[in-house]
Amino acid sequence: MTVLLLHPPQAKPAEPPAGIPLLAGTLRENGVSCAVCDLNLEGLYYLLSLDSQAEDTWSKRAFKNRHQQLQNLQSTKTYTNQDKYKRAVADLNRVIENRGKESGISLSLANYQDTEHSPLKSVDLLQCGADFENNLFFPHFSTRLHALITKHNPHYIGLSLNYLSQAQTTFAIAGFIKKEFPSISIILGGGLVTTWMQNPNWVNPFDRLFDHMVCGPGEHALLEIIGIENSGKRCPPDYRDLRDSAYLAPGWILPYATSIGCFWRKCSFCPETSEKNPYIPVKAETVLSEIHDLIKRNSPSMVHFLDNAISPAVLKSLTRQPLNVPWYGFVRFTSQLTDPDFCKQLRDSGCVMLKLGLESGSQKVLDQMRKGIDLQLVRKALLSLHQAGIRTYVYLLFGTPAETHVEAQQTLRFVADHHTQITFLNLAIFNLPTCSAQTKELEIRNFYEGDLSIYTDFIHPHGWGRKEIRRFLDSEFKREPVIHSIMQNDPLIFTSNHAPFFCKP
Ligand code: SF4
Repeated sequence: MTVLLLHPPQAKPAEPPAGIPLLAGTLRENGVSCAVCDLNLEGLYYLLSLDSQAEDTWSKRAFKNRHQQLQNLQSTKTYTNQDKYKRAVADLNRVIENRGKESGISLSLANYQDTEHSPLKSVDLLQCGADFENNLFFPHFSTRLHALITKHNPHYIGLSLNYLSQAQTTFAIAGFIKKEFPSISIILGGGLVTTWMQNPNWVNPFDRLFDHMVCGPGEHALLEIIGIENSGKRCPPDYRDLRDSAYLAPGWILPYATSIGCFWRKCSFCPETSEKNPYIPVKAETVLSEIHDLIKRNSPSMVHFLDNAISPAVLKSLTRQPLNVPWYGFVRFTSQLTDPDFCKQLRDSGCVMLKLGLESGSQKVLDQMRKGIDLQLVRKALLSLHQAGIRTYVYLLFGTPAETHVEAQQTLRFVADHHTQITFLNLAIFNLPTCSAQTKELEIRNFYEGDLSIYTDFIHPHGWGRKEIRRFLDSEFKREPVIHSIMQNDPLIFTSNHAPFFCKP
């Protein structure tokens, strides 16, 4: 019995995917043989190997320099020079973008969208499955899958679908397998599939293409599907198949999740709350033992913690058993981070950057969104992190129901007042999850036309709509000189995936 696990294009190719190595670890620990293939990274190299037809000067230069630019993105030196970095990303993206244009596809290093099909409509995705030969990656994945299937003779093929940008190619791959290898069972799982299936109105439109669909963590579900007795025992991820892959980063990144879900799970705008996802933490001592072992086996140059929020218990354990490898991840603003000594210990444990959801500089808005943070505490935490030398990637959310222009201006002021302690900024406009309890309190409009939409549009109770917010962001927020300067730090396309490499170890 063999299982083949695939990570389809298109997703940012900075680090290995986390899902399929976790499945591989569980399968192998239970005596099931498996093979793992990152078709996303392979697809990128395939596109870069094709000839270019673009004639403009930039495209010709970008094509000529593409191998050099790949090397540049894999060199730490490039991350000391913003201009050189931006040129490397922009040039590679140009080559990829041109490939897409030649076939009428909106393509980038982070996106794949053929203009005739929407990833939000099941009927369109099924069409992508039927017309798999039209997919841009078809020449690569068809050849590669023939070779992998001949070599491993799998009984099952698992596809991991986490982002909308992967949806069209995932369905094309499934359509190809179904046609060419009808005896192989296809299993679909991943973050996006979980979100679809958690919608109370979910009715599976894909049962003729996929033999099984998995909602939530896939490790034990997969064992059940293939008929292996499931002890429920935790198994660490196994990255051996992807250890030598050349990702677009200056060193190999080890992704690792210390939990699934969120220990807070109260923020009114967040799908973790509306989808009522359970919080499943890995014990802090297990985390430390697994991660030290994974570092020994894989010699990463960076550890990326994937949690929605690393728990205070795990942070504490990391200070007691430093990783000796730089690391970063998402945390909540908690009192722990207001302690300058604790932040120094975190820094000594290898922490180079923390991602933090501030969302708003208005306490009223924070309280109404049940964010559970106090701006006084945020002030102290930002200062302690800054003094410890930990860089911050701060996330802001505009347009929540309680916000008006006045509160958005308070956010502007808060960020400007703390600009020396904020290294990177992520700005987002609020999307209302279709399952959110707030849909009952707000006037709803259809946002995306599609049965797979995970967000819905609403009429803002104070008239603070997307148009007004965009105008505010462009004409006020980003024009504030100190904020403008922070925005310039954000790595092009790769954003937080490359940001820690700009932070001194
Ligand atoms: S802390 Fe983050 S992940 Fe948790 S509920 Fe709030 S926004 Fe969602």
